[in-house]
Amino acid sequence: MKRAKGFLQRIIQAIKRGPLRMTRKRERLLGALLAMDRPVSAAALRDKAGLPESDLVTVYRTLEAFEGVGIIQRIPLEESGCLFELTEPDDHHHHFVCRECHRTERLDLCLAIELEEQARKLGFTQINHLMEVYGLCEDCQPAAASGD
Ligand SMILES: [Zn+2]
Ligand SMILES: [Zn+2]
Repeated sequence: MKRAKGFLQRIIQAIKRGPLRMTRKRERLLGALLAMDRPVSAAALRDKAGLPESDLVTVYRTLEAFEGVGIIQRIPLEESGCLFELTEPDDHHHHFVCRECHRTERLDLCLAIELEEQARKLGFTQINHLMEVYGLCEDCQPAAASGD
């Protein structure tokens, strides 16, 4: 995952602007997120940060807190659970997600503006949307039977 120059600074600024208190564990989790080159599950992030299994709740709370200051985007998986991606503050984008290996490809395109407009017309406020596209990546497709 290529990150633009000044990414870390913008992340730190977003954290400082927010109501979030940084603890030792949160710093460790942020370090692990920065070290990951793809969106990860909470359990994989906990492993990467070297935290014990009992800290999974802490991991989820930290991810929620980071989400609250706009630096985490949640990528729901098709069946259950989700992946978490460290993003530019308040960046909005979507993904193609492989349902086998959970490889993700970023999609810098949003087609939901009109849908949100519809929701607004229906009187909804604080509108948000989740939209990901699922399939099998090249590596996860069964080998062709013809053998060519
Ligand atoms: Zn795959
Ligand atoms: Zn969108």
